[in-house]
Amino acid sequence: MIKSVRGTRDLLPPETAVWNFVEAAARDVFRIYNFHEIRTPIIEDLQLFKRSVGEETDIVSKEMFAWEDRARAESEKGQWLALRPENTAGVVRAYIEHKMWERPGLQKLFYIGPQFRRERPQKGRYRQFYQIGAEVIGPTAAGSESPAVDAEVLEMLVTLLDRVGISGWELQLNSVGDANCRPKYFAALQEALRDVVKNMCSDCQRRAETNPLRVFDCKVPEDQPIIEKLPRMSDYLDESCRTHFQAVQDILRSLEVPFVLNSRLVRGLDYYTRTAFEFTHGALGAQNAILGGGRYDGLSENLGGPPAPGIGFAIGEDRFVMAIQESAEAVSSKPDVYIAPLGAGMDREAARLARELRQHDVIVELGNESFRLKKSLETASKIGARFALIVGENEIKANEFALKNLATGEQITVPRAGLATKIQSVRG
Ligand code: AMP
Repeated sequence: MIKSVRGTRDLLPPETAVWNFVEAAARDVFRIYNFHEIRTPIIEDLQLFKRSVGEETDIVSKEMFAWEDRARAESEKGQWLALRPENTAGVVRAYIEHKMWERPGLQKLFYIGPQFRRERPQKGRYRQFYQIGAEVIGPTAAGSESPAVDAEVLEMLVTLLDRVGISGWELQLNSVGDANCRPKYFAALQEALRDVVKNMCSDCQRRAETNPLRVFDCKVPEDQPIIEKLPRMSDYLDESCRTHFQAVQDILRSLEVPFVLNSRLVRGLDYYTRTAFEFTHGALGAQNAILGGGRYDGLSENLGGPPAPGIGFAIGEDRFVMAIQESAEAVSSKPDVYIAPLGAGMDREAARLARELRQHDVIVELGNESFRLKKSLETASKIGARFALIVGENEIKANEFALKNLATGEQITVPRAGLATKIQSVRG
């Protein structure tokens, strides 16, 4: 038997109803904050991720699904392609490729789709997972650097969490500085690491050399007390980064958005600058981050574009769905009516009636004339239909139908023209 690939999974009904519920809520929230959808390819040039997410990050160095594509001619080399591990890089690539800075105002874009990382699968961690994300990006003159944008994005996330009924979250906030102050911090961090790194794990020893900030990604328990004593970015922020971060916090306070400062929060991707954040949720166990994001003011230039400060986030939809109290049963829709054709030649009549009702937005499950009435009624009950509608020769002649309420057992006769209204009046 062929099975789904390790780290991937099938999403089946009724759980898919929860996914649709989440996506519909997100689309609704994006609409009122004036965000518009972007869809970028799942396959990108591997270089895109090396230059944005960073070669030294776990995501790029260990977890990429990448391959050399077949060359078009023998003399050529194949191009290295990758399944996207995240979507910000693709969005910024598209922003540059389509000169989106020529459009008026800020580009406020959202996406919903699968991402791929070759991680060790566990509950809440998959190799194909889904993200709902958004980016605000644009020229500085359009206000893209403003702390008001950071606060608006964070407040929008709180609105979305409220709408889907997720409570008990915690917003963790940090500033990771910018190209001006981060090098000084890097130097201090490297200096501090020099004395202690020999006692740390081999990954940290490598990171200390190549990208010291990544030391904070370390999960090895023995390393934690050492990491705890390392210098903090918050002590190295320059004046402009400090003011920016303060302004974000001030607006959040006035919006009554609660947050906690976490100076160890550096996020697993290299492109972040200034504001970095994560929402965690207690009910999720080890994989407790439901979403993360931050600013990436230099990313466009890194990828060969014009200066275009931006901020974005990605919600882990798999974890979001897990955190939702709503049960799949509650959001999954059930048929309004089961049509039971009774006797030879009635499939035809039943199909016509089903078509009429569906045109009035009634959810119809169509039975089969080979079933006896008893079997039809049993099937209707099993699949959770509210009504059974009997279509026999007498009913067609009279143009009136027996409509049985399956919850109460009550049966009434309804003229054809009144069926849709009657059925809909009893919707849950
Ligand atoms: P990142 O793109 O690493 O900032 O992750 C953003 C969010 O995506 C995280 O907070 C998680 O909720 C989710 N996420 C990241 N990696 C995985 C994974 N392998 N499986 C499920 N969700 C993930």
